Amino acid sequence: MTNEPQLVPIHVVGARGRMGTSIIREVVQSENFILEGAVDRTGGPGLGHDAGRLVGLTETGVKVGEVLEPRPGTVVLDFSLPEATPKNLARCVEHNVPLVCGTTGGGEVVEQLIREASASIPIVYAANFSAGVTMLIALAGIAARSLGPKWEAEIVELHHRHKKDAPSGTALRIAHEVASSRDQTLSEIFVADRSTRHQARSANEVGIFGMRGGDSVGEHTLMLLSDGERLELTHRATDRRIFARGALRAARWVVDKPPGVYDMRDVLGIEPV
Ligand code: NAD
Repeated sequence: MTNEPQLVPIHVVGARGRMGTSIIREVVQSENFILEGAVDRTGGPGLGHDAGRLVGLTETGVKVGEVLEPRPGTVVLDFSLPEATPKNLARCVEHNVPLVCGTTGGGEVVEQLIREASASIPIVYAANFSAGVTMLIALAGIAARSLGPKWEAEIVELHHRHKKDAPSGTALRIAHEVASSRDQTLSEIFVADRSTRHQARSANEVGIFGMRGGDSVGEHTLMLLSDGERLELTHRATDRRIFARGALRAARWVVDKPPGVYDMRDVLGIEPV
C-alpha cells in the first residue's frame, strides 16, 4: 500500500487562452498531474502544435486539437467562452468524465445545463477558483447576515482591459451571497447602472461597478455601509496562477466524487454557516 498521490490526467479546453496557458504550465511542471489533452476553437492559434512547447516548456506529446474527446479517468478543465460550454458539458456527459468549469458569463442558461449534466457527472463550477476569493464570498455571507439589511452593500471590481463580460462572475457571486443572506434573489437587488434612474438608492439594492483597464488579474471589494462606519472586504489577485492552481486543486478533489454540482467551498471544505 502506498500513499503516493494518484497522477491525475488533465484535458484543457481553451488551451491557447490566458487561463489555458497558465493551467498547462502548472500541469507540465507538476508531479501530480499529467496533460492528456488540449483543445481550442476551430481555426484558433496553435492547432496541431505541441501544448508544452507552445507554453515555452518541454514537449508533452499532446497536440492542441479542436475536438474534445476525453478518455475515461481524465478530468476536463473548461476555461474558454460561454458559447463553448454547452458542447463541452455534452462531451463530458457522453464520455462520463468529471468537469471543472471556470468559464464565466454564461448566465442562467448555462447554469441550467450544468445542473442537468450534474445528474450524471460531478462538476466543480466556480466563477473564481482562488482560495482567497472563495473565503471572501463566505465572509460576505457571514457579514451581510450578521450585520443585517440596514447595512447597505455595494461591490466594486477591477479587471484587465481584455475581459469581455461585466460585471465579473465573482462580483455577481458576492452579490448573490449578500442577497441570499437576506432571503432575496440576485435579480431583485442587482443594480449595474444608476445613470438614468434619478432616484435615491432603495433599501435592499446592491450596486455593482466594473472597471476595466491595465493588466489587473482581478480585484473585488464588498463595502457594507452604515451611518458612522463602513466595512470593506477586499481581495486582490496579482498572479493568474492562483486560478490555475485552484482549478487543479478542484480537479484532484473531484476525481472520486459522485455526480452533482460543487463549488470551491466544497473543495476547500468550508462548512455552511
Ligand atoms: P482568453 O480569451 O484568453 O481564452 C479563451 C480561449 O478559449 C481562447 O484561446 C479561445 O480561442 C478559446 N475558445 C474560444 N471558443 C472556443 C471553443 N468553442 N472551444 C474551445 N476553445 C475555445 O480568456 P481567459 O482569460 O483565459 O478566460 C477564459 C474564461 O475563464 C473566461 O470566461 C474568464 O472569465 C474565465 N476565468 C475564470 C476564472 C476562474 O477562476 N473561474 C479565472 C480567470 C478567467
